[in-house]
Amino acid sequence: MPEVYESTLEYAQLRDQVDTLFPFRERFLFPQHQGEDVRYFCGNSLGLQPKSVEYLMNKELRDWARYGVEGHFRASYPWFSYHHFFNERLSKLVGAHKDEVVAMNALTVNLHLLMMSFYRPQGKRYKILMEAGAFPSDQYAVESQVRYHGYDPNDAIIEITPREGVSTIEDTDIINGIAEAGDSLALVIIGGVNYYTGQYFDLENITKAAHAAGAYCGYDLAHAIGNVPMKLHEWNVDFACWCSYKYLNSGPGGVGGAFVHERHSDDPSTIRLAGWWGNEESTRFKMRKGFIPQQGAASWQMSNAPVFNMVAHNASLDLFEKAGIDELRKKSISLTGYMEYLLRQITHLSFEIITPSNPERRGCQLSMLFAANGKEVFETLANNGIVADWREPNVIRIAPVPLYNTYEDCYRLYETLMGITV
Ligand SMILES: *Cc1c(COP(=O)(O)O)cnc(C)c1O
Repeated sequence: MPEVYESTLEYAQLRDQVDTLFPFRERFLFPQHQGEDVRYFCGNSLGLQPKSVEYLMNKELRDWARYGVEGHFRASYPWFSYHHFFNERLSKLVGAHKDEVVAMNALTVNLHLLMMSFYRPQGKRYKILMEAGAFPSDQYAVESQVRYHGYDPNDAIIEITPREGVSTIEDTDIINGIAEAGDSLALVIIGGVNYYTGQYFDLENITKAAHAAGAYCGYDLAHAIGNVPMKLHEWNVDFACWCSYKYLNSGPGGVGGAFVHERHSDDPSTIRLAGWWGNEESTRFKMRKGFIPQQGAASWQMSNAPVFNMVAHNASLDLFEKAGIDELRKKSISLTGYMEYLLRQITHLSFEIITPSNPERRGCQLSMLFAANGKEVFETLANNGIVADWREPNVIRIAPVPLYNTYEDCYRLYETLMGITV
């Protein structure tokens, strides 16, 4: 049943009063504007800092001071196996078995590492299919991988574009594109939730189509993890990677993550670039010759874990664990629905919402495409203590994040937009 929303402050505040996730807002630090917390709609770009990070960071510093090298085994969270603390919590966010996920490196690095395993062009099967307008880093990664294997990106990369006059891409166009490419296709790579439009692609059916064509299928989940619940294992996805500084609030340059389906990690013939941290733990410090991969996605690790970079990750994942991704999603659908409802009341500004209106096909982001004066609107918001995100040439992205945004935040954004005359 569609919700009955109202565009009043009283309504918004009442919704906040009955929101069981409301207290999580208190666990975060907000930038200040004229002595008050900003209304922060930028969690899709850089999530806020959980208050517990400072304490946990100091604790880690003390452990290092106190134990030196022995901290590998004696620290409160022993560094030797630090990445294991994340498995359970990450696996719930992406719908995977515990061993299928690992926190490591950074996003684009992981994308390259996984393409080394899953982009193995041979004979006429060498093409990669992706969505047009993918995040630039992903485009560069794919182009350079294609060149690395000796192909021309213009020939080897198939881009699926939106239809005439719209901004989002039909899932069926991706699926048909895959079928058309058929046995020329080696790999499908899609950004699970598009960073620009906020469109959430049909990962399950795209994966099916890729496998039917005999190709591997991987996803960049930068804008999906912590935003929409997924079932990567059940959907048979081959691999995925993500960053943690967006919805996962793990700080700038925060540790990335990866998923590898266990049917690949358990298969000794799956090629993975190796390093000592991916080696079986019982023999890792024995300094022997001959790589023995440890169980699961962790065998893709190379270097020892960047512990200080993982402290914020630990703090933030605890909050996700306590809130629960399904509860967050429920609030997210309602909150984003409210924001959309409010934006649709506004008729004096020349924008359209290019994010899909179907809640199943989006997360918590709404992208407003301006015909004119977008930059001025964005700046007025900033001057009023509302942090949105500007994307050239003419889009304002706003993300009502269910972990710390409120119905009142949405109302205040609406109120400010209503007051703008341009
Ligand atoms: C944020 C983002 C990146 C950034 O890559 P890093 O390696 O973390 O710097 C890459 N791809 C997508 C889709 C993103 O949204």
